[in-house]
Amino acid sequence: MIPEWRVFHPSIVHWWLRWRLTIRIVSIGSHRKFPDACGNLWLADIWKPRKRYLKGWKTADVITPSNSQIIHLNMPMLPSTKYVPYRAVPFPSGYARQWPNKRTTSAPHWLSTDLRDGNQALVNPMSNTTKLELFKVLLQIGFKEIEVAYPSASDLEYQFVRSLIENNEVPDGVALQIITPARPDLIKKSIASLAGAKHAIIHLYNAVSPVFREVVFRNTKEQTIELTLNAVRTKFTLNYCLETFSQTEPEFTVELGNRVLEAWGKATPNDKVIFNLAATVECAPSNHYADQVEYFGNHIHQRDSVLLSLHPHNDRGTAVGATELGLLAGGDRVEGCLLGNGERTGNVDLITLSLNLYSQGVAPNLDFSNLSEIVGVVCRVNEMAVPTRYPYAGSLVFSAFAGTHQDAITKGLVAQEKRWLSVDRSGEGIKSWAIPYVPVDPKDLGIGYDDLIRVSSQSGKAGTAHVIKQSLKLEMPRRMQVSFYGVVQTLAEKSGKEMTVSMITDTFKKTYIIGAKPLGRLHLDSSPMSDYSDDMMTFAGEPTAATPLRFEGQLSVDGAVRSIRGDGATPVLAILDALRSSLGIEFVAGEFAAHPVDTNACSYVEMHLPADAPSKSGVGSVWGVGISSDVATAKCRAVISAVNTLIGSRELPPAKRVYQRPPILTLGSAGSWFKVGKLRTGHTPVTPKENEARMLEASS
Ligand SMILES: [Zn+2]
Repeated sequence: MIPEWRVFHPSIVHWWLRWRLTIRIVSIGSHRKFPDACGNLWLADIWKPRKRYLKGWKTADVITPSNSQIIHLNMPMLPSTKYVPYRAVPFPSGYARQWPNKRTTSAPHWLSTDLRDGNQALVNPMSNTTKLELFKVLLQIGFKEIEVAYPSASDLEYQFVRSLIENNEVPDGVALQIITPARPDLIKKSIASLAGAKHAIIHLYNAVSPVFREVVFRNTKEQTIELTLNAVRTKFTLNYCLETFSQTEPEFTVELGNRVLEAWGKATPNDKVIFNLAATVECAPSNHYADQVEYFGNHIHQRDSVLLSLHPHNDRGTAVGATELGLLAGGDRVEGCLLGNGERTGNVDLITLSLNLYSQGVAPNLDFSNLSEIVGVVCRVNEMAVPTRYPYAGSLVFSAFAGTHQDAITKGLVAQEKRWLSVDRSGEGIKSWAIPYVPVDPKDLGIGYDDLIRVSSQSGKAGTAHVIKQSLKLEMPRRMQVSFYGVVQTLAEKSGKEMTVSMITDTFKKTYIIGAKPLGRLHLDSSPMSDYSDDMMTFAGEPTAATPLRFEGQLSVDGAVRSIRGDGATPVLAILDALRSSLGIEFVAGEFAAHPVDTNACSYVEMHLPADAPSKSGVGSVWGVGISSDVATAKCRAVISAVNTLIGSRELPPAKRVYQRPPILTLGSAGSWFKVGKLRTGHTPVTPKENEARMLEASS
């Protein structure tokens, strides 16, 4: 005989047991090594299970690796000797920051730099065909400012700008931004690329170079820009990038900004200059960036003729936070990329930013209602992948695996449905979204609720019940949920994998023997259709002295059909009586539930053998499910469904000749109670209305 090897779970309650067993193991030397999927060898405590110890125990999956990998750690524990922290922004003493008390109530101007800053960071930069594809997606999303190229960097880049303009790819109201270093020859080439554009934004960088002021704002402005642009009548906006803004002394950035304003000399509230406040490398917490933005906004001249543009990178992983605080501090515009593409850790992610606004009830003016498709395009053209847990866009973001979360979500969905219905009815209030663990309605992003609940061995009854409700429209009672989840969990633990919707529904049908063909050992061949109006919400009913109902049916047992017959106060007691006399087994009915599904009735019944009652919470329960257009038949099917599980593989007595018992009630006149009360086989179901009429007729 092959012994069954198990691994201990160290439990405080059973510590002494473990101790005793460990002694036993040590004494017999039962340690065994076995490999996992990665080829690591694991060492497990092993012993031959003895039933009295095992009852109620679970095997554990926490075991000691026998070849532990040693990781050598050597990070300096005194980083202060190596790294210098950020310096505070020089606000006057006693200055009360404005941004902490503010709230963002409208969307900023968005600039997508996917085609420039994003593209420059790619291992394989996009072709111009691919750039055009992404450009069109950006337009569809709703971007009005798009940085499209670095025209002086390569002919390809130059040609891309030309092709957009010459092929009329730029709709009215959309501004093209190009970037150029502040060098006269390069500026000339960059501006030439824009000939014919309606609105262009020139993004000048290399800001701190002394060449900048002399060349750009004296010579170039007069000689190059004016010459070129007068000819093409392009509206021209200056975007002056304070490159490395976040690492420069705040006083100096302001001084530089003011001198640019002065040199430019034509900023007005209707024709603003953009100051791009770049966190080229993110080097400090988000609050510091907000301080820098607020300081700059406080000290820059002509504030009403200036747009503060935020261009945060994500080196500390807090670009989204920095941008949000920067907006509170006075930022008017944000430059970033979809999914945060860009050099190193990327630019700030415009999807996260705009959906963060959206979930606060602020219109982002960008449309992500088909997020999966947008993410698909961005990933393809950039040859990048999105982590499964990435905000909004990750594949697992709108899925709950943990039982407690699933429970809260399913309850939340039910409560919200009720709340929305009452808003519909009363016309008061708003149908606001409030589902635990789901901050934004996935449907708004084109994602359904199908994956909201996903079931693994870590999940709970609520998730499994939700899946069954969604896929089969069946609402299991609570105790049955516990019971069915036990079945699902065992399978999930065995496979170590997720239980998909189809796996769960298949398991449900198999467990409760629901199918077009007979699946279990027992099957009601001819359904006991009734001429009898049965109340869906009562099950066995109160036994009465008189037994006015008789069940007569054809039961197939292991493929052989036998006639069964039983008497009882209700259809269920009658079929239980029939099963008892035919199979020689007593069955006890426990809890019961029922609800309509479309035109059918669905019944659930908990059953057990007299000696084998389930626990109070429902562990160890055996349940049956029956569905029929006829209420009594649904109940009888539920009983057979549960009995199939209860008999397991036990041997059943052979069919006996059905003793022709005399009628219980004397045959009365037509329309008497007995006539309508007898359960017979093979009738067509009757509608409840007919039933009611008959009952009324019978009782009158
Ligand atoms: Zn950048």
